[in-house]
Amino acid sequence: MSGSLEEVRAKLLLIKQIIADCEARGFSPFELEFIYKFLTVKDKHVCPKCEPLHNTLHRGSYVQGAFPNAVSASEVAEALGSIGDNQYDLYPNMHNGGDYSCRCYVKLTNAAEGCAALLSKELIAVT
Ligand SMILES: [Zn+2]
Repeated sequence: MSGSLEEVRAKLLLIKQIIADCEARGFSPFELEFIYKFLTVKDKHVCPKCEPLHNTLHRGSYVQGAFPNAVSASEVAEALGSIGDNQYDLYPNMHNGGDYSCRCYVKLTNAAEGCAALLSKELIAVT
């Protein structure tokens, strides 16, 4: 950061405002910067559709397309009247109405790094 004291001060105030705005609105869980990992429960009842997906990684921007029946952990927690571990985790619900009941989940692996990358992108765009 360079410029006169006034210019530096103006940039710092702008950065402070951007961070406050980001905190207020949050980030969509479906941003490219977020990386999710598909996890099965790894027992003998895991279905042939889910089993090969175990440990695969998925960018946030592709999660909805890859798992169209997914519901968020926070929605499920709310329905059950409890508090979810991570508001960004998803239940992929792979075989909606099928023979198997899906117990898999899609876990956000990089919440802090993803948020930092998104924040950094917004700061670069304006400073
Ligand atoms: Zn499953």
